[in-house]
Amino acid sequence: MSFAPPQNYRILFLDMDSYFASVEQQVQANLRGVPIVVTPYVSPTGCIISPSKNAKKLGIKTGMLVKEAQAIYPKVIVQEARPELYIFFHHQIVKLLNNLTPFVRVMSVDEMSLVLSPSERNIACCQKIACTIKNQMRQRVGDFLTCSIGIGPNQFIAKTASEINKPNGFYTCGLDNLKTFYQQLKLRDLPGINFNIEKKLNFLGIKTPTDLYQADQLYLLKNLKHMGKIWYFRLRGYETDIFTSRRQTVGHSFVLPPELREIKCLKKVLAKLAFKIGYRLRKEKLQAGAISLIIKTLPFGTLKTYCRLPLVCDSQRITWAACHLLNKLPSNFKPIALYLTAYNLNRSAHQLPLFDCQKKIENISKLMDKINDKYGSQTITSGNLLESDAIAPNRISFGEPK
Ligand SMILES: [Mg+2]
Repeated sequence: MSFAPPQNYRILFLDMDSYFASVEQQVQANLRGVPIVVTPYVSPTGCIISPSKNAKKLGIKTGMLVKEAQAIYPKVIVQEARPELYIFFHHQIVKLLNNLTPFVRVMSVDEMSLVLSPSERNIACCQKIACTIKNQMRQRVGDFLTCSIGIGPNQFIAKTASEINKPNGFYTCGLDNLKTFYQQLKLRDLPGINFNIEKKLNFLGIKTPTDLYQADQLYLLKNLKHMGKIWYFRLRGYETDIFTSRRQTVGHSFVLPPELREIKCLKKVLAKLAFKIGYRLRKEKLQAGAISLIIKTLPFGTLKTYCRLPLVCDSQRITWAACHLLNKLPSNFKPIALYLTAYNLNRSAHQLPLFDCQKKIENISKLMDKINDKYGSQTITSGNLLESDAIAPNRISFGEPK
């Protein structure tokens, strides 16, 4: 595999600062002066998914529990997440970027990257574009919203650069100052290096990003196989991370709040996840050949099961399959979280259903999509989903919001 050669100042990476919390402070001006945290549900054991900028200054971090934040600052405001609101602002941000360049990639609800044109790949232009984005963000999207911008030869370095000088940061990393760039970072500052990879690298005598940058290509290849090769080129500015990849799976997961950890609630959430998977399969013109269900439980730990499917994309049969999987499991557990994943995916464009009844079921799903796309999600829905929204409100998953 060969990677595209490095080109200076090619990628601009934008990361919104404390995104969910800042949007809340944008729409609720009275919350701007006080530390707030956003959590999927309000409870002392709720996990913080976004602390505000002023909460971060006090030492409150993403991933902490609400009670841990309250131990740091008892008066911290706890706000339940409102995904629709964050997606609304996300679309405004993407619109703003699309007006500046046609080459916008949406990485997640609060991260986007732009490919700069060859004439823009110099420090003066980069600074001008970053200033324009930040000013327009304040004027057109929200005066309380800030973003951090990193510029680099590839997606990886631009993203890493965006983390420096947060919040409201701006940092450019050119090919001629890679060495100085890595000197100011720790291994765990590099996106993709988690605790386990850090341990492995330390074992190989690699303790800092500079060590990794200077490591011999063959040494990395021998000890880390393909990943070693990727790290070698990635740190030198080759593009190793932007591909038009073919989707392998379509999945959704949900963590049940403590008071709803019962099988009857699990069943309702399962039906909702199955419908969401069906919708995404149809949108991406895919059919699933298999489905798996993983449930984290007490006292059995993680339960896993799967079954094959006759290439389907309608929500009805995916729901039946999901219920079938659930019935294969013991029924006396306390569910904590569930993950439903469709895989063995096929492009459906050239596949026609074999039987008429199959075609009818698919058509019902497609018709429901049309109505919901036109008049708003869940204008028409299945009867078994009526109560599931209260249990499983829509949340934002990783990747590009739909
Ligand atoms: Mg962010």
